[in-house]
Amino acid sequence: MPTYEYRGLILNIPEFDQEHAGYFEYARRHQLAVKRCLDCGLLRWEPGPSCPFCTSLRWEWTPVSGRGEIYSYQIVYHTVLPGFRDWVPYPIVLVELDEQRGVPTPGYGLRITANLVDEHFRPEREERVAIGARVEAVFMDLPNGLTLPQFTLSGEPPRTPLWRHKE
Ligand SMILES: [Zn+2]
Repeated sequence: MPTYEYRGLILNIPEFDQEHAGYFEYARRHQLAVKRCLDCGLLRWEPGPSCPFCTSLRWEWTPVSGRGEIYSYQIVYHTVLPGFRDWVPYPIVLVELDEQRGVPTPGYGLRITANLVDEHFRPEREERVAIGARVEAVFMDLPNGLTLPQFTLSGEPPRTPLWRHKE
């Protein structure tokens, strides 16, 4: 994988970068992938070569459902990234995937940070973003060959009451 440009950002994903290359290879096939520890079996999204649960260095990429709910979010009003100026205000969401909720301890979860977009891959409107809202992964194919996983509201009923920040 070579170097890609996205909204003025340079994304360099060399072939030997096992930390990230597999993530984007799965994304190109429109699958969300996380790392699975080959010793304790737990999934993780955090970068890094070792398992945060058992310190094993053995892992593999594994596809997940891409379904989950918004665990937390923020709305960006002032971006330091020039390429995102025409996106403000836009949400950044922390999604808790359905896999591995409450594992290995209560309160833990498999969480991933992403943009929340509408059906046109535009930022979702602030008033529609809420903690607890159900989401699913969608895949934005860029003309340069890179595919970026994003999330969108799935419309499924939430498991818990929705919560929004109020001014
Ligand atoms: Zn492990």
